[in-house]
Amino acid sequence: MSEFQKPAPLDIKCTSTDCDNDLHCFKQLKKMTPDQRGKCRACGADLVDWKRLHRRDKGDAAHTFEALQHELIRHHFFHRPVDEQAMRHAQRKGRIALKGAARDRLGKYLAVAEPPRDGRQTPLEGNAIYYAQHATATCCRTCLQYWHNIPKGRPLTAEEFDYCATLVDLFLDEKLPHLADEPMKVPPRPRGLPPEPEGPHP
Ligand SMILES: [Zn+2]
Ligand SMILES: [Zn+2]
Repeated sequence: MSEFQKPAPLDIKCTSTDCDNDLHCFKQLKKMTPDQRGKCRACGADLVDWKRLHRRDKGDAAHTFEALQHELIRHHFFHRPVDEQAMRHAQRKGRIALKGAARDRLGKYLAVAEPPRDGRQTPLEGNAIYYAQHATATCCRTCLQYWHNIPKGRPLTAEEFDYCATLVDLFLDEKLPHLADEPMKVPPRPRGLPPEPEGPHP
């Protein structure tokens, strides 16, 4: 049996940019003027129709997914293949239970008024739900606020929660199109893997 190779650590933060390749960061800086708001903090690119995004229309999710990919970190998680551990986890659960687990996780780590360790609660790998959360900006309350206009400091409403869970579900369907609905028997995780890394937000 081949030894499990741990991939190199990811060098990505929620504020990373590669503007020359049209990958930006829309997380706002305090010093930004009203005119600069909503644009890339590094290059000023004005690419997102925030009014449209902030309607939080589930029927417009294709546009929302396109808009999210103007941001480097989201683009990364839309396009990076799911790691081996995350794949095994997803197969062991099956699509139905994976989506159930995503709802549990959102309820516990996002939907409460003050999520514990907010900004660091969503690791970068090991679970397809984490990919979905980073890709759809439902990873922490800061990303949720600027992408989806859901303010910090209070619990999500049922409607807001449902919106987040729907984006996560749609992402999982797109990312794992061949995942079976029901659980599969999957060999256990190789021993000796280091603990999961922390989330990308300082
Ligand atoms: Zn930029
Ligand atoms: Zn975040």
